[in-house]
Amino acid sequence: MIPVDNHLHTRLCGHAAGEIDEYLDVAARRGIKEVGFCDHLPLYFLPPDKTIPGYAMDESDLPDYISMIKNQALQAPLEVKMGIEADFVPGHEDKLENILASHRFDFITGAVHFIDGWGFDNPAELAEYAVRDIDTVYRQYFALIQQAALTGFFDIMAHPDLVKKFNFRPARDLRPLYEETARVFKNAGVCVEVNTAGLRYPVKEIYPGPELLEVFFKHGLPVTLGSDAHRPEDVGAGLPEAIELIKNIGYREVATFSGRQIRFVNI
Ligand code: ZN
Ligand code: FE
Ligand code: FE
Ligand code: ZN
Repeated sequence: MIPVDNHLHTRLCGHAAGEIDEYLDVAARRGIKEVGFCDHLPLYFLPPDKTIPGYAMDESDLPDYISMIKNQALQAPLEVKMGIEADFVPGHEDKLENILASHRFDFITGAVHFIDGWGFDNPAELAEYAVRDIDTVYRQYFALIQQAALTGFFDIMAHPDLVKKFNFRPARDLRPLYEETARVFKNAGVCVEVNTAGLRYPVKEIYPGPELLEVFFKHGLPVTLGSDAHRPEDVGAGLPEAIELIKNIGYREVATFSGRQIRFVNI
């Protein structure tokens, strides 16, 4: 039984396929009890005349996103929650706070996909790894997710070790960075997303990997589950493996969110 998939995209972001009802059909067929849509928030941190094509919905589409999901939720055979995946880019906190406050979400998922303007998880920007020091990249990435958690804007931290996506790994021991991140997350009161998209990318590993997840467990951080589906057939993908992984580490429940309040479901 899969209690929840809290990370589904929609075609509004420009790089996902399928209709919302198709995502819900697959979820129902796979016995998923609850889903959370979590599409990319408009790129609030760019100047008004700038955009990254096919990266996120336009600001003018945000009300449509919300009404489309509300409408589908009424007829769906399962619980449907309204989430959003919000990039954290330092220096634009006021804009982010405003846009998040103007809508009622069940949960807000914070994500870091940019290190000083470099879209490090974007295949189109892969060449940049050749000119960066990978130890520094990891340090910058983890500093950003810590800073994101401490803003208090986010209920969930998305794919916590996304920086490993293309399987570039630093030589040094990451344990101290993991410990520090877990302490900061705990102080910030965030939930951690166990995201299976990594299984579909070169790293071929769930985010977070077992070592980081163990550190999160030791620090008492709650977890939720997300497939990060960008097409209906990926709804719930890898979640049985994710549940197996978190159970082996010691978790007995996963978090779900309603109106920004956390609840726990046994696994
Ligand atoms: Zn996406
Ligand atoms: Fe993401
Ligand atoms: Fe996503
Ligand atoms: Zn994502």
